[in-house]
Amino acid sequence: MKIGAMLSDISHSLFKKPVTQQYPYIRLEAPERYRGKLIFDPMKCTGCQLCVKDCPSLAIDLITVDKVNRHYAIRYHADRCTFCGQCVVNCRPKCLSLSSTQWELASTTKEPFTVLYGRDEDIAALMATASHENSGNPENC
Ligand code: SF4
Ligand code: SF4
Repeated sequence: MKIGAMLSDISHSLFKKPVTQQYPYIRLEAPERYRGKLIFDPMKCTGCQLCVKDCPSLAIDLITVDKVNRHYAIRYHADRCTFCGQCVVNCRPKCLSLSSTQWELASTTKEPFTVLYGRDEDIAALMATASHENSGNPENC
């Protein structure tokens, strides 16, 4: 590039608004089809396990809470998810989606990367069972 063209570019750029945003002070809306955190609707899940089998990252565990009444929960490992959308495409009852609003997933601790999804009462029962099992395990004391 010639020095004249370079100086012209510099002088133009000095008076232009920056194209970057002052994130996190300014947050733009993500595009409608942005692939953020996986969302699960437990009311529609049939427990078919297709999402578990098709996930290339082993990011979904299906938990059967009550097979007769079709109560299922999933444990989603956001730190393994590649946001490929395969599970969303293959879920026939359409109970999975990738959120375009929940995409700020960075964390300094591991806990937020494991998400338990299900009906409120099922999650409460699963948490109570886990806590009971942990309290009986001397390694966890
Ligand atoms: S979006 Fe892809 S990687 Fe993430 S849970 Fe679904 S299938 Fe697995
Ligand atoms: S593919 Fe859909 S219906 Fe089947 S287990 Fe996964 S979330 Fe449930």
